[in-house]
Amino acid sequence: MAVFNLVRRNKEYSLIIYEDLCKGCGICVWFCPSKVLSLSEEMNKRGYHFVKLIDESGCTACKICELVCPDFSIGLSEVSK
Ligand code: SF4
Ligand code: SF4
Repeated sequence: MAVFNLVRRNKEYSLIIYEDLCKGCGICVWFCPSKVLSLSEEMNKRGYHFVKLIDESGCTACKICELVCPDFSIGLSEVSK
């Protein structure tokens, strides 16, 4: 699991990638408006090239990746203070 802590629009978010749930379909990579996702060269334990965040600063926390992932492998949660 990879976790990235982001502050956007005065709110804190965690972008979480469940690498071993990812099937490497690339849907989130294609839909990400900021083009900050990519498929890894490495494989996860299921034998898929999992998604990774390649530019943390470019992520706007828009949640589109979460909405389009069919396998619930990527998502954002708002961190409450
Ligand atoms: S939250 Fe938006 S900008 Fe960030 S990785 Fe997902 S789709 Fe891309
Ligand atoms: S995170 Fe979801 S949409 Fe993105 S490549 Fe993996 S399975 Fe596909």
